[in-house]
Amino acid sequence: MGFPWATHLIVLCETKEKAMSLYAELQPYLRKRGLNLAKDKTKVTKLTNGFDFLGFTFRKFYKKNGSHKTIIKPSNETMKKARARIKEVFIQQTGNNVDALISKLLPVIRGYANHWKRVVSKKAFNNMDAYIFKLTVKFLQKLHPKKSWKWIKKKYFQPDKNGQSNDKWLVTNGRYQIIKMAWTSIIRHEKVLGYNSPYDAKLKEYFENRDIKSFNNNVDSRQKMAKLQNYKCPLCGNSIVDFSKGLERHHMIPKCQGGQDTYKNLKLVHISCHTKHHIDFPAKGPIPTTKQLAIAKKLRNRQRQGMFLEMEDPNFKNLIETIN
Ligand SMILES: [Zn+2]
Ligand SMILES: [Zn+2]
Repeated sequence: MGFPWATHLIVLCETKEKAMSLYAELQPYLRKRGLNLAKDKTKVTKLTNGFDFLGFTFRKFYKKNGSHKTIIKPSNETMKKARARIKEVFIQQTGNNVDALISKLLPVIRGYANHWKRVVSKKAFNNMDAYIFKLTVKFLQKLHPKKSWKWIKKKYFQPDKNGQSNDKWLVTNGRYQIIKMAWTSIIRHEKVLGYNSPYDAKLKEYFENRDIKSFNNNVDSRQKMAKLQNYKCPLCGNSIVDFSKGLERHHMIPKCQGGQDTYKNLKLVHISCHTKHHIDFPAKGPIPTTKQLAIAKKLRNRQRQGMFLEMEDPNFKNLIETIN
């Protein structure tokens, strides 16, 4: 199925009895779509108890005056994973300089900030910023074990050079600075209208537009780049509006070969595509031709669909027969 979230489902109802009866009521609906409820993964709960869904926690709160509000925020588990991912960057960059750290850290920070900004994440952002700050201080002290804190402070910390905030404590390498997640303005999630469902092919366009709309709330020049490349990753041909995958800037003609920082030469690509691309075509090697790029794109997509290819493979059928 083309939609990864199609296999996850929440149903909201008034009473527990109604919820319980839905198990039976949903069966025909799901069967028609080749789906089944995984009993062990299905649960009925009160909204005031809260529940985790696709990395977010949903919970309804009652105020003293009787009114209520449902809050959505990144789940604890997601926050834990995000911290682990950030820590991994610091560990990988141990011994490298601050330039390397910043260049690896920025896409990760941007990725989470954009993924979370649709929900109430102020606290989550502050929490992550504090965590990144703590790791950065450790990183710098390790990098200059013989220098005083005062020296480190003077060398690396500067006020926000873009004037986006009043922050005076940003790690800067002259050109780039470690941004704060808390700067991300939190935008309200654009509601899926009434009966629209990603299942309906005719509504595909609606969903694409909706994703592009949220992409356009992304602040910097990436917005312009994305539009110029029709919101597609040039290396695999798939959409780049799903931020959870993380994006990087790629120079079609590498900088070391005279490529420029122009909109013509820069493309936004998936991090995973980028890594694979430079394994196939190292920046210092010959510049790949259009034909080579097309072949690499085809191979990459074929690998991605590995499961389906294997099932059609005669060897796979033999294997199944042997097992049976
Ligand atoms: Zn891609
Ligand atoms: Zn590149």
